[in-house]
Amino acid sequence: MSVLPVPLDHDNCDTAIRGSFLHFLADPDREGDACEYIDDGLMILKQGRIQMLVPARDWIDELPDGSMFYDYRGRLVMPGFVDTHCHYPQTGMIASYGLQLLDWLQQYTFPTEKKFAEREYADRIAAVFCEQMLLNGTTTSAVFAAVYPESVDAIFEAAATRNLCIVAGKVMMDRNAPAALCDTPESAYRDSSELIRRWHLQGRAHYAVTPRFAPCSSPAQLEVCGQLLAENPDLYLQSHVAENRDEVDWVGQLFPQNRSYLDVYDSYGLLGPRAIYGHCIHLDEADRERLASSGAAIAFCPSSNLFLGSGLFSLDAASEHGIRVGMATDVGAGSSFSLLRILAAAYEVCQLGAQQMSPLKAFYLATLGGARALYLDHRIGNFAVGKEADFVVLDMAPTELMQHRLENTSTLEERLFALMMLGDDRCVQATHVMGIRQYSRPDS
Ligand SMILES: [Zn+2]
Repeated sequence: MSVLPVPLDHDNCDTAIRGSFLHFLADPDREGDACEYIDDGLMILKQGRIQMLVPARDWIDELPDGSMFYDYRGRLVMPGFVDTHCHYPQTGMIASYGLQLLDWLQQYTFPTEKKFAEREYADRIAAVFCEQMLLNGTTTSAVFAAVYPESVDAIFEAAATRNLCIVAGKVMMDRNAPAALCDTPESAYRDSSELIRRWHLQGRAHYAVTPRFAPCSSPAQLEVCGQLLAENPDLYLQSHVAENRDEVDWVGQLFPQNRSYLDVYDSYGLLGPRAIYGHCIHLDEADRERLASSGAAIAFCPSSNLFLGSGLFSLDAASEHGIRVGMATDVGAGSSFSLLRILAAAYEVCQLGAQQMSPLKAFYLATLGGARALYLDHRIGNFAVGKEADFVVLDMAPTELMQHRLENTSTLEERLFALMMLGDDRCVQATHVMGIRQYSRPDS
C-alpha cells in the first residue's frame, strides 16, 4: 500500500533544496539504521530551519511561487561539518616545521599569538579563518582565541557576520609563557566575565572558559576557571589534556598531588557537560571512566597528533566507555581546515592502532557526533525537523582520480570512503548557514 503525500504547507516553505541527502540519526556503531540517505531528495526550509526532508518526486511540483530554490542534483548534501577544537590565531603558522608540542609552542605559537594584541590584525586573521571554515564546509567550530580580549571580540564578530555557530573564549595563561602573553588570575576573571556578558548566547555565539593547558595556569587561575563555570552554569570549557608524553611528565611535576593530568582539571571542577578536551591520547582507564561519567567530551585531533608526533588516540577505548567524541582540525598543529582531510588522518591513526573507523562512523563524528560532543545536537548535526539548516554541498568527484575511483564503487559506503580519503576543499561546491548560501565554489 502506498501512502499519498500530504500537500506542502506553503506557509512553511521559503526555501527548497534538491539533491542527494545523507545525515545521521544515531551513532552507526551503536544502532542499525543510524543514517538516512535519499538519492533524489527535497529539503524544505522556513526562516533557516528544516521543515521536512522528503523524496523530491512527491513534492517537487508543489513548491510555492517565490520560494528560493537550489538545484543540487548530482551533489551530496550533508549537515555542515563540526570542528570541535582549533586555534584561529594559528591560521598563519599552519605547517611550521620540525618540532614536538612544547618546543613548537615556544618557537612558533607564542610569538605568533603576540600579534593578536592588535585588534586590526586579529580582525584580519579572524576573517581568513571564517572564510576557511566556509570553503571547507565547516559551519560550527570550537575555537581558542589568544590571551587578549580584543582577539575574542574579533572572532565572535567575524563569525556573527557570517552567522556561523561558534564556541570561543579568551586563552588564560599566567605562567610558563612569555610575559607579554601572560594574564593574572584577577585579570583573567575580569576579562572573561566581561566577554561572557558581551557574547555568550548572543545569536549563535557561545562562550568557553579557555585555560590553554594546566602547565600554563597556576592553581589560583584554575580556581578562577572553576569559579566562572560555577557562576555561569551554561558556559563551555575547553582545554588540552594528555597530548604529549613530555607534557604529561611536566604536569606530574607541577601537580604532584593529583592522580593524573585529567585529575588536575577534575580537582578544580573543570569536568562536566560542555567541557571539551583536545587530544586525550595518554589516558588510563580511570581517566576514561571519569570523562564518561562527567559528560565531558574529547576532541579527536588526528592530523595534529601525527604532525607533532604526539601519539595515537584510541577511538575504540573512548567508544567502549561511551565518551562523547568529536572530530577536530586543531589548526595550526593540524595541517588542514578540511574535515575530509581530518577524517582521512583519523582512519590512518586508527589503522596504526589496529582499530577501524568505518566511513559511516567517520561522517557521523564529523556531523552529529561533533554536535553531541558540543551539546548542540538539539539544534544542529542532522536534518531533523526544526533544526538549524547548516549544510555542505559536496561534489564527490572534482578530480580525475576521484572520478575514476567513483566509477569503481558500487555502494554508498565505498563512495563515502573514497570521499574522505581523497577529498578536500575541492569537493565543497557550496556551504549554507541557516539556509543561506554563504559560500559557493567560484566555478559553479
Ligand atoms: Zn589545540
